[in-house]
Amino acid sequence: MNTEDFRPEKEIKVFYPPQRVLMGPGPSDTHPRVLNAMARPTLGHLDPVFTEMMEEIKDLMRYAFQTKNRMTFPVSGPGSVGMEMCFVNMIEPGDKVIVCSNGVFGGRMIENVERHGGIAVAVMDKWGEPVDPQKVEDALKKNPDTKIVAFVHAETSTGASSDAKTLCELAHKYDCMTIVDTVTSLGGTPIKVDEWGIDAIYSGSQKCLSCPPGLSPVSFSDRVTELVKNRKTKVHSWFMDISLLLNYWGSAARTYHHTAPTNALYALHESLLMLAEEGLEHSWARHRNNYEALKDGFAALGMSYVVAEQYRLPQLNSVFVPAGVDEKEVRRRLLAEYSLEIGAGLGDFAGKVWRFGLMGTSSRMDKVIFCLNALETILSDMGLKVERGAAAAAAHKSYAVNPML
Ligand SMILES: *Cc1c(COP(=O)(O)O)cnc(C)c1O
Repeated sequence: MNTEDFRPEKEIKVFYPPQRVLMGPGPSDTHPRVLNAMARPTLGHLDPVFTEMMEEIKDLMRYAFQTKNRMTFPVSGPGSVGMEMCFVNMIEPGDKVIVCSNGVFGGRMIENVERHGGIAVAVMDKWGEPVDPQKVEDALKKNPDTKIVAFVHAETSTGASSDAKTLCELAHKYDCMTIVDTVTSLGGTPIKVDEWGIDAIYSGSQKCLSCPPGLSPVSFSDRVTELVKNRKTKVHSWFMDISLLLNYWGSAARTYHHTAPTNALYALHESLLMLAEEGLEHSWARHRNNYEALKDGFAALGMSYVVAEQYRLPQLNSVFVPAGVDEKEVRRRLLAEYSLEIGAGLGDFAGKVWRFGLMGTSSRMDKVIFCLNALETILSDMGLKVERGAAAAAAHKSYAVNPML
């Protein structure tokens, strides 16, 4: 039999992606050091040189999460797999889970609980607002058989931050375990797993870690290990069953579970090393100072925030689109003319809100100024009354008080 000739409709050539500046809700820019790390020789996933590096990743992750949890490792898969992993391991059919929902990702948590046979008790807050601890306590009182409280620390769909420490304290007061989504917070805003008593936590590589998408750092307390050990039913996923995965990530005598994405893990190693070199406190302060400057620039353009000041995430800025402005056209021009990507609003915010990410290596003074100038030029061009140069000037003034880090 003859093979057919390959005749694509359009000639296929080598793919060279354009160099963008990524200032949306993620992925953020990958640091050149991290990209470079990915290009190093591929090793086998059981090569002793590689497994030694895996231990370093676990140590670096413990630093990033501020935990001594033994069960701290990256899952092969995006943040959504980290999320699913927590729920699929910790929920047995009929288990009651309080899920706080104040945006897209809280909604996905409810979906996870239900798909794994749990009963989700939803505690709803408005989009753009933080999770209300009082509502959570009311739900805990009303549902004394609750096993787990799950919430999103940094809601990327709105830019609102919730008080993880208080929510974890509440959960423990009512003898519940916690699942916390820190996909957008890790590296950008403080997370203290041990101090706050978080039981299960997951994150993503592509937000504040300056790393490409595809890996999900997770960490579990010993209470979770116990819980999984004492399950009456098997975990409803072979791939995500932590007790099986531990044969690869957990023990010195590693055995094959799945082929770990070795080059992607070099990238994570490099990005976590960079975070440790910079220091968590410095990284948090850097994200904050760049937010202060961006915020002052937006104010000079007459733009206002969705989230009240005290609950804002510095790394995810949701602002209202000025009245009369074609928001889609602005995003199209930013991408076409400046190679700058920002995010659109989701759900009720679609068409009304833009999301500007200042995550990881995208959180830098030069990018803040570039973004404000580009936005100002386009808005002015589209007829909005703005004083040219005012946004960057306001940002510069902010950096005089909160310096570039
Ligand atoms: C991005 C994100 C996720 C999902 O991560 P993926 O890598 O896209 O699967 C989950 N939760 C939050 C808060 C996020 O920002």
